[in-house]
Formats: sequence, C-alpha cells, structure tokens
Amino acid sequence: MTTAHWIPDRAAALARIDEIDPRAYARTRNALDGAVTRLSPWITHGFVDLPEIVAHLREHRGLGPLDKLTYEFAWREFFHHVRRHAGEGILDDLRTPVWSGRYAQALPEDVLTASTGVRVIDAGIRQLYADGWLHNHHRMWLASYVVHTRKVHWRVGADWMYGHLLDGDLPSNHLSWQWCAGTFSAKPYLFDAANVARYAPALASPGTAIDHDYETLEAHARTGGDAGPERIASPPIAMPALLAGPPAATAWPAIDATMVRGRRIALLHPWSLRRPDDADVAIGVFHAPFHARFPWSMQRWDFVTGGMTRIADVLWWGDLATLAPALREAASVAMVRTDEPEYAGATQSVATVRHPAPRFTADPATPCRSFSAFWGKVAPAWPHPESSPSQR
Ligand SMILES: Cc1cc2nc3c(=O)[nH]c(=O)nc-3n(C[C@H](O)[C@H](O)[C@H](O)COP(=O)(O)OP(=O)(O)OC[C@H]3O[C@@H](n4cnc5c(N)ncnc54)[C@H](O)[C@@H]3O)c2cc1C
Repeated sequence: MTTAHWIPDRAAALARIDEIDPRAYARTRNALDGAVTRLSPWITHGFVDLPEIVAHLREHRGLGPLDKLTYEFAWREFFHHVRRHAGEGILDDLRTPVWSGRYAQALPEDVLTASTGVRVIDAGIRQLYADGWLHNHHRMWLASYVVHTRKVHWRVGADWMYGHLLDGDLPSNHLSWQWCAGTFSAKPYLFDAANVARYAPALASPGTAIDHDYETLEAHARTGGDAGPERIASPPIAMPALLAGPPAATAWPAIDATMVRGRRIALLHPWSLRRPDDADVAIGVFHAPFHARFPWSMQRWDFVTGGMTRIADVLWWGDLATLAPALREAASVAMVRTDEPEYAGATQSVATVRHPAPRFTADPATPCRSFSAFWGKVAPAWPHPESSPSQR
C-alpha cells in the first residue's frame, strides 16, 4: 500500500473500515505484513472517529471489548488523556532518561539519509519518506535504534518522524517515543536482530549493532556510546523537506462579514476534516503559529489540504486571532475542540460552540499514569460471547 491509497476523503476511509477483520488483526498484527487496519491517517485528521469505527465493527464484525483491536484503539485515547492533563509537558522527559550521558540534539546524517547500514532501519526510513506511514513495530524499532543505539534524544527523533507521517499525532507519537526511550515506561524498549527476523524476515539485519543478546543491548542503552553507522552503508537518499505551510498554489480568499453574517459557521481544522450537517458555511482554517513549530512533509500537506478542499467552502491561513473580527456577525461559530499546541488557545477566542473531540472510552478526570490504570477505569463493558483476550 502506498500514499496513493490514502485518498483524503471520508468515503475512502469508510470503505477501508469495511475490510477490517478483527480476528486476523489479533493473530497477525505484530508482523510487518500482518492484517493491520492502516486507518491512522484518516483517524488522525478526523475523517472518521473511533466511536463510529468501534460501533461499526461491533455490529458488522463482532468486535468485542477484549479484542486486541479494541485495546489498540484505546491506546490512542489513553495518549490523548495524558496530553489533556500534561499539556505541552508531553514534549519533555516525563521521567529521568535511562542513559546518564548527553544525548545528541540532532539526527546523524546517515539516519537522515537512510544509510545506516542496518537494513531494517534504512528500509523503515525509506518507507517513512515514501509513504508517510509505518507499521507499529517498525516505528518501535526506529525509535529504539535512534535513542538507544545512536544516543539521540527521543524528542529529536519524535519531531522528525512526526513531520514525515501522514498520521503524525503529537500525543501518540511523542508519548510512544518516550515509551521506547524509557521516559514514559518502567524500562527502555529494546529489540534484537532475532525479533526483526521473526516479524520482518525480508529485513533481517544479522551482524549489525542490533545483533546482540538483550543483556548486552540493555547495558549499551544505559552505559554505551553511539554504535553506528555500520562499516558498510546503504546508498543514501535525500530527506524530503518539512514545510511550515501548504503548497504555494493554495488559494486563501479573504473572509469578510457578508460571507458570514447571520449564518451558522463551522470552523474545520486539520484534526476535524468532516463537515457538520448543520453548517451554512464551512471554513477550513490553518493556524500558522502551530505549523511554524511543527512542520509537515509535502505529502501530508497535500493530504490535509486535499481533504479540506473537498468539504470546506473556503480555506483560510494565518493567525486565528486576526480572523475573530470577521466572524463577529455570524449566528454561531462551531468547531470540534482540539488540544493541539497553539490551536487550543487560539480557537477559544474564535469559536462560540466547541464540541468535544469524539472518544469511545471515558476520559477520567484524574490523570492515569499508565495504560493499565487507564484501562482499569474505562474498559468498555459491552457483551460479546466470542471475544478472546490477548496480550500486548
Ligand atoms: C515511535 C512510535 C510513533 C508513533 N506515532 C504515531 C502517530 O504519530 N500517530 C498515530 O496515530 N500513531 C502513532 N503510533 C502508534 C501506531 O504505531 C500507529 O497508530 C499504527 O501503526 C497506525 O497503523 P494502523 O492504522 O494500521 O494501526 P492499527 O494497528 O490497525 O490500529 C488501529 C488504530 O488504533 C490506533 N492505534 C493502534 N496502535 C496504537 C498505539 N500504539 N498508540 C496509539 N494509537 C494506536 C490508531 O489510531 C490506529 O490507526 C506510534 C507508535 C510508535 C511506536
């Protein structure tokens, strides 16, 4: 599957949901060629939401509350729960790092150019750049390699991966990097060459820096130095640029009072690409300060602006504070709430109605420090005779 398969519209996402087989998912999800859903770009950008996906799979595919897929959907909601409480704290170490040395503050050139010489790592970087999507296991291997093998601070790797993903989601991405680094988990996530050979045989990487027993890998994570690149490198490729704004050709007409006077306005932002039925006018907004901080690849810009163009009457780019005066005469200005940095504060001053972001689990009022604590409070209790518990 390549980027071309992530068509930026809701119909494409709904068609994909219809193909999901929760049982095959549970059996095969750890393998790189396993039956994972590949729904993440559509979920991140709000073309579809978890409550409707879960409801559909319950009704048509017998999804149960203890099924592996239900559990994985809940990880996303857990990460968002953590972000709601910690805010921008998720961008900093949540625990003391496992290594006492000073992690590098930039990625080495061989990582940026997919030429480390570790086959599984270089293949992952190439796929990230080409498709904007990676299997979960591949993301874990990349994060672990960057932090523990190459001694780069997790935040540097997280920002880099976030920018290139079509599904880049700050809570899921940055907290997963912290989980692999060991600053949001009890121990660092480590993997060996045998693990790769088992779940991605075509990318087996014997004789490289990852080909050691777990005791050696753990000692290296805690006390070693940068263990790369390999003596024999792969041919380097160029990293696609990360851009603080959409393609220059995008049209940004001015919004004036006549367009909005007395009308129900829906503000669509990049995480809510779905037009509400009751909107008279839908304005797709991009709040420039966020995008200057967290730039995206061109293919992500194309995906998001493509989705926005399909459903909005007009697209708007700038600092949201400057849009507020033009919207004053609207009957209402509604939007889906977002906790994204910069957007969260700016949208408060513009919208008169803020709908909660959809969730299929509860969002506990007090912070849960671990997924198991969260799951203990929110695990759904719908009856399902055939469900089979599975382990993470
Ligand atoms: C280092 C690292 C970075 C990651 N960055 C992101 C990111 O930026 N955006 C993102 O959506 N996910 C991220 N994930 C989680 C996970 O890898 C992806 O959600 C998943 O691979 C997307 O493919 P899929 O839709 O086929 O997932 P499936 O396995 O089919 O799961 C279905 C959906 O459940 C959710 N989900 C599944 N696993 C997780 C998980 N571990 N954490 C959070 N949500 C999950 C996603 O919405 C996903 O689309 C990251 C994981 C790691 C280890």
